[in-house]
Amino acid sequence: METILVLAHVEAGGALAKSAREALRAARTLNLSIAGSSLAVGLAGKSVQAAADSIAACPATKYFGAVGAEFGQSRYCTDAAAAEALCRAARATLVVAPATSRWNRVLPGVAQRLGGRVDCHLTGISDAGGKPAVSRWFYRQRMEATLTRTQRPWLMLIDPGSQMACECGAGAAAVDLVPVKLAGGGPRTTVAGIREPKADAQTIRPDAPLLFVAGAGWTKKQADGRTRVSEAEKLILDFLKATRASLGSSKSLVDLGGQGQAVLPFLSHLNQIGQTGATPRHAKGLSACCHGEEPHTVGWRFIGERRAISLDPNCGWARGKADVLYVADAFEVISKVNELLAANP
Ligand SMILES: Cc1cc2nc3c(=O)[nH]c(=O)nc-3n(C[C@H](O)[C@H](O)[C@H](O)COP(=O)(O)OP(=O)(O)OC[C@H]3O[C@@H](n4cnc5c(N)ncnc54)[C@H](O)[C@@H]3O)c2cc1C
Repeated sequence: METILVLAHVEAGGALAKSAREALRAARTLNLSIAGSSLAVGLAGKSVQAAADSIAACPATKYFGAVGAEFGQSRYCTDAAAAEALCRAARATLVVAPATSRWNRVLPGVAQRLGGRVDCHLTGISDAGGKPAVSRWFYRQRMEATLTRTQRPWLMLIDPGSQMACECGAGAAAVDLVPVKLAGGGPRTTVAGIREPKADAQTIRPDAPLLFVAGAGWTKKQADGRTRVSEAEKLILDFLKATRASLGSSKSLVDLGGQGQAVLPFLSHLNQIGQTGATPRHAKGLSACCHGEEPHTVGWRFIGERRAISLDPNCGWARGKADVLYVADAFEVISKVNELLAANP
């Protein structure tokens, strides 16, 4: 009989992230499809009661908590020990966890400690004749495979954004506190603080409904024979400010910086989407000044509706990969869009 454990870490403010609710939804789907299975929740954090209460109306029958100041921050030894203790306490055979950077780092090691197996970057959970099956993409999102495993425990890391988040209501959850043994008597690593860009300098927004991708065309010589990079910079930033869209970039554009050419200063390789970049998930995507060769197009695999603005109606992006193409000058289009957005905030 399968015991399914949803494993999540609590956010700094004590709440559960959307990705944890997505994992809970996936685990519930599994729970419904496997006859006789049970569902439990395991939470790690400085304090987990508020997070457990926030989903107390979910169908889980047990809640386990690894609680303490040392679990409030991401650190391999404490996170791995907490996850291991929670899996053992729940006697979990199937562990469903959000593929956050924190869990991605530790759960493969935890699977090893438990004598189990782990699969990461999963985008779906289904049942194969009453047995669990997971799906994930290979070769940079070009091929999708469905896998089953007999080894238990089986740890499943679900890619954030690939599932609907559960809408379980709040209540009062009874959390069993689980003792956690730290190897060597305690952590040797001290977290001194977090350095991060200012909120308005952060252009990568995974939860935004719209992804805006800027290509190298923004920095190319235009019809008048001159480049208009500072104008491009203002147009893009104004568009992002008004729409709160996430900003992506083509490889060519972020590479130009390394070659000493004039580029948009707010772009880094972290913005790059594609074969050697990210494959983000957004309901809609708009690319401007992108040529859209195959390695770039791969980054659009999970975008719901794709639109493009390009001067060239024959480019690879325009021919069949974008749902809607505007054959137009992106400077003119975005300038007009910004004007309309400012008039109708
Ligand atoms: C192994 C490998 C991995 C790669 N990985 C990636 C990856 O992960 N991500 C990625 O993006 N690329 C990747 N590439 C590169 C990719 O193949 C393309 O070269 C690149 O994405 C093209 O970038 P671009 O569209 O920005 O620029 P360009 O190809 O230079 O296209 C610019 C476009 O802008 C248009 N344009 C110019 N001015 C305007 C205007 N005023 N209005 C409207 N349109 C205008 C032009 O018509 C042109 O179509 C990879 C390549 C290889 C070989």
